[in-house]
Amino acid sequence: MKRAIKLLVLAALAIAAALWLTGLGGTVELRLGDWLIAAPLAVTLVLLAVLFAVLHLVLRTIGWLRGWPARRRLRLRLSAHEQAEGAVTRALVRLAAGAPEQALLELGRARRLLGDNPQLLLLAAEAERQAGREEAAAGHFRALAAREDSRFLGLRGLLRQAVAQRDFEGARQLAEQAEKAEPGAAWLRQERAEMALATAAWREALSLAPATAPRAALSLAAAREETDPLKAAELERQAFIADPAFAPAVLAHAARLEAEGSHRRARQVLEQGWQVAPHPDIARAWLDLAPPEPLERVKAAEALARRNPDHLESRLMVGEAALRAGLTGRSRAELQTAAAMSGADRRVFEALAALERLEQGDAGHMALARAEAAAQAAPEAPGWRCGHCGTDHAHWSPRCDSCGTALSIHWNGVAAG
Ligand SMILES: [Zn+2]
Repeated sequence: MKRAIKLLVLAALAIAAALWLTGLGGTVELRLGDWLIAAPLAVTLVLLAVLFAVLHLVLRTIGWLRGWPARRRLRLRLSAHEQAEGAVTRALVRLAAGAPEQALLELGRARRLLGDNPQLLLLAAEAERQAGREEAAAGHFRALAAREDSRFLGLRGLLRQAVAQRDFEGARQLAEQAEKAEPGAAWLRQERAEMALATAAWREALSLAPATAPRAALSLAAAREETDPLKAAELERQAFIADPAFAPAVLAHAARLEAEGSHRRARQVLEQGWQVAPHPDIARAWLDLAPPEPLERVKAAEALARRNPDHLESRLMVGEAALRAGLTGRSRAELQTAAAMSGADRRVFEALAALERLEQGDAGHMALARAEAAAQAAPEAPGWRCGHCGTDHAHWSPRCDSCGTALSIHWNGVAAG
């Protein structure tokens, strides 16, 4: 509307000027040799205006024609982009649907239209992996790794492949390169931590472990591979501090203190461990430090049991020590209390059967038969078991030698807390 009014005003002004010029009169003369061209001023001005308009039009047309190939190229490129985008979307859908071959066809279309770019290479690699062609996928990952802008993506893919193929040395080198490409990447840290666990590189696993990792087990494992005794002692101390309920850490820390001559500290550590989580291995280590006389051992067992008097393991430890010392009344009291507890296992009833044998001889065969039957019916004695493959182990170890899983061996096969 504004534009129309403006044109109208301009036209009105032009007509007014033309009328004024016509009224003014006057002639424009152009002399060329013998020639003389004369025209009224108004006509000359109109002719000049027309000439200007025509020239302007011609120049605009030339400019438009010169820009035509570039415009055509742009149009084609936009159209190619649109088609490629469509192909990539279809490829993603095919990949999600688990149809890698069709996804690769779509990706091939997109790559013909756009050439290789990191997104297409990455998608092609994933599709090849999905189709089970690891070597073809590795080719795409290598192409990604060769580009400055997608180096980390390529290395990440190659690293995942190396881990899957259990080529841990290759994976370690790739992880180093990836660390340089993207320092401090969270994913890489996690991947390196898992690799350290898989290769039993405990010190590295400990240094990379997330907050949720079982630090006591990792520290103890690292202590076992440490050749410097001072460092090993410190790692054992850290394991004990991280989880005083983890009996192997209690035992390792106490044994180190005992070997260093800190007898009192060693006993304190065992007592602390018993207070938090009584464990038969701690009882054994404690009684090993006691004098060999059976009555002295009963006293030692009672001293430790005071740290956690109502626990099944405390009752069992004192009951068994009293049995060995021939204190049958004392033994029976402890063992019967233990037998009435929930979770009483075969060890309690076997000790009761031994007690019957000691006390009654053949005369007590009824009571003995009862105790033996109870032992048969009771749950199995607890032990170190792999939570992954279920294999029983005589001792805790950072890695199950049966299935090779790291940190899978737990007391009774169940990870604590
Ligand atoms: Zn196992």
